[in-house]
Amino acid sequence: MAPLKNRRALPLSAILLALFSLVCGTAARAQQASPVPPPAAVDPKSTAEFTAAADEVLGQMSEITGLKLVSPVKKTLRSREEIRAYVIHQMNEEKDPGERYAAARSAEAFGLLPKGFDFDNFMIELLTEQIAGLYDPKAHEFYIADWIPLSDQRMVMAHELTHALEDQHFKIEDWVKAARPNDDAELARESVLEGSAMAAMVDFLLQGSGRSLKDLPDIDPAMLVGDMSSTPTLQKAPPFLKDALIFPYLSGMTFTAEVLKPAGWPSLPAIFNKPPASTQQILHPALYRSGKVPAPVKLPAVDKLVGPGWTKLEENLMGEFGWKEILKQYLDESRAKALAAAWDGDRYVVFEQKQSKQLLLVARLDLAGVEQTLHFFGQYSEALEKKHAQRTNLFRRADFFSFETPDGGVFLRCVATECITVEGASRALFDSINKSIGWPAAPEPPIDPAKVPDKTASIVPGNRGVSTAPNGARAVAAAISKNDPAARFLSASSSFSPTILDASQTRWTALEDSDRAGTLVGKHACPPQAGCATYCPGALPPVNFCRSREEAWFVHRNFAG
Ligand SMILES: [Zn+2]
Repeated sequence: MAPLKNRRALPLSAILLALFSLVCGTAARAQQASPVPPPAAVDPKSTAEFTAAADEVLGQMSEITGLKLVSPVKKTLRSREEIRAYVIHQMNEEKDPGERYAAARSAEAFGLLPKGFDFDNFMIELLTEQIAGLYDPKAHEFYIADWIPLSDQRMVMAHELTHALEDQHFKIEDWVKAARPNDDAELARESVLEGSAMAAMVDFLLQGSGRSLKDLPDIDPAMLVGDMSSTPTLQKAPPFLKDALIFPYLSGMTFTAEVLKPAGWPSLPAIFNKPPASTQQILHPALYRSGKVPAPVKLPAVDKLVGPGWTKLEENLMGEFGWKEILKQYLDESRAKALAAAWDGDRYVVFEQKQSKQLLLVARLDLAGVEQTLHFFGQYSEALEKKHAQRTNLFRRADFFSFETPDGGVFLRCVATECITVEGASRALFDSINKSIGWPAAPEPPIDPAKVPDKTASIVPGNRGVSTAPNGARAVAAAISKNDPAARFLSASSSFSPTILDASQTRWTALEDSDRAGTLVGKHACPPQAGCATYCPGALPPVNFCRSREEAWFVHRNFAG
C-alpha cells in the first residue's frame, strides 16, 4: 500500500527511539546511493574506539546469526547533523512528487490520513528528532552517530550490522524490491529484515544472561516499546502512520522468533529463500508455515469506466495489515483485528478528478467464508457511515448498502465471499463496475416512494409522514407520525432473513449501531407466526422479525439518517 511504500523512505529514528533509543537504516537501505557530506573532524580516539567496538559487535552478530562475514563492512562515525543531512538528502533524492502525492491522497481515500495531511513536513519533523545510526545497502556502509554513548552504540550496531550481514548473504535491497509491485508482500519482506535485526539485537542484549531469542514469548513486547512520549513527533502522528512505522519491527520480530523455532538462527536463510507472501503471514506465522497465499483479486478496468478527466493515482493491495488499519479508524481495535483476519485477498484502485480533485476509491476484497463476509458487510457498513458524516438517501438491502455524500456516492456490496466498496462514484459508475465483474444488477433504490415495491427496505427521510412500506405499515407510520412529528421511519423487508439475524445478527447489529442516534419510540410487528424471531437490540425493546413482507417497523426519534 502506498503510504507504506513511503514508509520505506522514512527515517525510523523516532520509532526506534521509542523502541530502543536507536535508529534503523531502512530509509537509507531503500534509497539510491548519493554523495554523503564528508565526515566532520572526529576525535581520533573516539574513532578508534568506535571501530574497535564495531568490529567486535560485527563478530558477535556473525556468531549469533550464523552469517559469515563475506567482506569488510564500511563504518563511519558521523555527527548527528551529518546523518540527518544524509537522510534528508536521500529522502529528497528518492522523492517523486507525483508518487508522494498519490500515496497521500490514496491513504486519504481510505481514511488513513487526514485530508490535506502534510506528509513531507511531518517526515522532516520526524527527522529532526534524534537519529542514532543507519545502514546504507547501496554503499554497504554503516553509519553511527557520534553523540550517543559507546554502550548504546553497541546496541545500534547489533541491529544495523545484522542488516549488513544479511545484505552480504541475501542482497537485501534486491530481495525486498523483488516483491514489487505488491505493496503488501513488500511490507512482509521489510518485516523480515527489521524483525530479524530486532531479534538478533535481542539475542545480542541477552548474551550472558542464560536466555536467548527462544525465550522471546516470555518477554513482554510492551516492555520493548518503551515510552512513546519521548518522541513528540511520533506521538502526534496519525495512528496509521505510527502503526505502519512500528509494524515491521515488532510484528516482524515476533514472526522471526516464531519461524526460527525450533532450530534457531540456522533457519534464517530458509526465510530469505521462501519469503512471506503477505502481511497476513507475518501476523500469523502458522499461515507462513502452511503456505497460505492470498487469493488473486482482479479489478475491472475502471479507467475505461470513469470517462475522461480522471487520473489513476494508485492500484495495489492493502493486505490484512492495511485493512486492519482501515477498520481501526472507525471500529475498535478488537473488531478491526477480527474482521481483518478474515482477509483472503484484495485489490484497490484510486482515481482523482483532475479539476475538482474528487477521489474515487474502488476496492474489492476476498474473505475467508460466507459468515465472515456477512460480518464484514455489516461492520464495514457501519464504518462507512462513521467515515462520511454527511449522508443522504441511505439505501440498505441484505447485501447492498449505499448513500450519497457531497463527495459522491458510497456503495458496499457483498456476494458470496466477496465484497466491493466504491466511494466517490455515481450510481451509474457503480453499476458499470458491478456489471464488469460479472455480478447481477444491484438492488435499485426507490425512485418514487409511492411506487415502491413491497420488498423495499429503506430509510425514509424523517418527518414527512411517508414511508416506503406496504399500505398497512404506511398507515402505522403515518399514525405515529401524526402523534409524534419528530418520528422518522425505518423499514425492513423480507429480504432480511431471520436465519441470518439468528446466526450472527450482523446486519441488524450494524443497523442498530449506525442508528444509535435515534431512539426507538414504538414498533409495529407482524403478528406472531412461524418464522418469527425476537431480536433485542441492546437497550432498546425487543423487536419481532418475521418472514412476512411487512416484517417489523422501527420508529426512531431524531433519526440521524
Ligand atoms: Zn533496521
